[in-house]
Amino acid sequence: MENYIVSARKYRPSTFESVVGQRALTTTLKNAIATGKLAHAYLFCGPRGVGKTTCARIFAKTINCMNPTADGEACNQCESCTAFSEHRSYNIHELDAASNNSVDDIRQLVEQVRIPPQIGKYKVYIIDEVHMLSASAFNAFLKTLEEPPRHAIFILATTEKHKILPTILSRCQIYDFSRIGVEDTVAHLAYVASKEGIAAEPEALNVIALKADGGMRDALSIFDQVVSFTGGCITYKSVIENLNVLDYEYYFRLTDFFLENKISDALLLLNDVLNKGFDGSHFITGLSSHLRDLLVSKDPITLPLLEVGASIRERYQVQAQKCPLPFLYRAMKLCNDCDLNYRTSKNKRLLVELTLIQTAQLTAEGDDVASGRSPKQAIKPVFTSPAAAQQPQATPVASSQQAVVQAAQPIVAANKTPRPVNTQNSTAATAHATPTAVLMAQGREEKKVPVMKMSGLGISIKRPHVEEEPKSAAPLPPAAQQSAQPEEDYIFNERDLNYYWQEYAGRMPKEQVAIAKRMQNMHVALTQGTTFEAVVDNEIVAKEFTALIPTLQEYLRARLKNRKITMTVRISAPTEKVRAYGRVEKFQMMAQKNNALLQLKEAFGLELY
Ligand SMILES: [Zn+2]
Repeated sequence: MENYIVSARKYRPSTFESVVGQRALTTTLKNAIATGKLAHAYLFCGPRGVGKTTCARIFAKTINCMNPTADGEACNQCESCTAFSEHRSYNIHELDAASNNSVDDIRQLVEQVRIPPQIGKYKVYIIDEVHMLSASAFNAFLKTLEEPPRHAIFILATTEKHKILPTILSRCQIYDFSRIGVEDTVAHLAYVASKEGIAAEPEALNVIALKADGGMRDALSIFDQVVSFTGGCITYKSVIENLNVLDYEYYFRLTDFFLENKISDALLLLNDVLNKGFDGSHFITGLSSHLRDLLVSKDPITLPLLEVGASIRERYQVQAQKCPLPFLYRAMKLCNDCDLNYRTSKNKRLLVELTLIQTAQLTAEGDDVASGRSPKQAIKPVFTSPAAAQQPQATPVASSQQAVVQAAQPIVAANKTPRPVNTQNSTAATAHATPTAVLMAQGREEKKVPVMKMSGLGISIKRPHVEEEPKSAAPLPPAAQQSAQPEEDYIFNERDLNYYWQEYAGRMPKEQVAIAKRMQNMHVALTQGTTFEAVVDNEIVAKEFTALIPTLQEYLRARLKNRKITMTVRISAPTEKVRAYGRVEKFQMMAQKNNALLQLKEAFGLELY
């Protein structure tokens, strides 16, 4: 390992031609040099490791070259070029503004700017991470930028263009560097590997390129890391092991399980992945990307969007042909929802499992997606969502199906609870103007996906006493259509109930943050059948919760696909401990004793957190 030079340095491009993945930009620069149209200041913007500093150095070398080639490249042989190549040229000055950002640093630089070059025509000043300059340093620099000597050229580089003052922006020619594409990165890595006499599988290089996310410097340093780990033979297997990348093999298998409605296999696979130390969110994002890749593989027009190696590309195309489009759309939506809810979920594993279960049921019976399949159980989804009809991914068949039933309101079950909660049903269902109602609509939109067979989860299911509540006894709300609703209500247990309770709390608008926080600290209990109660500790909170019943109940009914869910609110008995008093409770207890506190809160628009 003596004289070991990291690849990023060893293979740093020395001509514009050899810069990877920035063709348009390097061509423009070359043309500017060839025609002698040089500006005094350039701003190179773009993510880290994509070649900003490299291009700045090539630029500095090229404009000082004594015998530039016809197409605007440096000769790499003249006195100036060799000085540059050997890092001894006085015509290039680099300042890293991240570590030298004081006024003094800039003053020193400004002093140097006055001195003309001894060899060559231009002195080039590269200021890296220019957005890090202090305000006073910026100001000191601005004067020089305004009236620079003829021989001075400034190249400012930044990863954060939005932090550059407009005064600087207006004085620079701006070049936006883009992320380097996976294909370009793989090609360059393959080139480096061949130069180094290293055998590398294209798939392995592809994983490295994806991991580097558009940065060549990162790609090369990961490459070096893998080389030292594998001892010079880079295989796909060694790379995913070393980089802790989840094998795409899992996703191919999982997708097959989905298409075959193999819920148990899907859950076991997840278990396997989690046991390997990957976390659920990582898994779900990977699954989303896989589904997305399948989607773009389906159509030759979108195929270029697939950033995978040639060998795996074919596999994607094969699997994509097996996936009906509606399945892919809905599966992507489910994964995306899971991803969005992941951070706030209290039972993250259950969330991922539910997503897998739902996805695995997408092509099951009752769906137009795979009409050839034999029906298993009657778990047809209840379509009641007007929003669902607008979903672009719905196939014509599906939307006409919805059209028939969309107007139907849930039948209100015979209500045994003392509270007249159900009387507010119709208002809740039609109150689309409120933010909560929008939430409900979103919730319902997802309803068209057949939901959860709890048996697959290995959790106990409390069967509600559906039979005890004869549907015929229930008076239909005026909005409800005659339509017979053959669909059964979905069974659920307390755990499911609390899951969606939390979900609702997590989606409440900002103005309701206080009550949302309270909900997040609560556990609701099923009292009998489909009735549950929220136990609160005083009347003020009870009022707040009772006001919430219509929308919340509707939301839970939609999410759990059970039209009988009934919410009640009860004030806890004095001996019953609801939970430790928080600031909100303390305030409410005090407010109960002294009403002036409430007035104070109102008057100043105060909110307790
Ligand atoms: Zn030269």
